[in-house]
Amino acid sequence: MTYHLSQRSRTRLRGVHSDLVAVVEAAIPRTEVDFMVTEGLRDSARQALLVKAGASRTLNSRHLTGHAVDVAALIEGQVRWDWPLYGRIAEAFKTAARDLGVPLTWGGDWTRLKDGPHFELDRRAYL
Ligand SMILES: [Zn+2]
Repeated sequence: MTYHLSQRSRTRLRGVHSDLVAVVEAAIPRTEVDFMVTEGLRDSARQALLVKAGASRTLNSRHLTGHAVDVAALIEGQVRWDWPLYGRIAEAFKTAARDLGVPLTWGGDWTRLKDGPHFELDRRAYL
């Protein structure tokens, strides 16, 4: 089964760094688990709100600069948060990033406070 980015996902990629958009576009045809983009670029007011709510822990988020995206796994079009699905989506992102030569970080690889839906351009390569 080959998946495609929905129009909604494409809209949410507006303002996101073109290298990260390229990774998302290369990941969708190769993923075994469908996904949608839930968030890309975020403004500082929204970031402050998320920190206050406990949904984010930094005011220095990569979302503020268009260097991060969040995705949600889809099974038959329904959002699922089951952890193993995100590892499979991450495989597609990592393969896509490697093929494109884009240094990418998956939030699921963080040692503390893992963030399975989150992908960002490596801070060492993209300031
Ligand atoms: Zn995120």
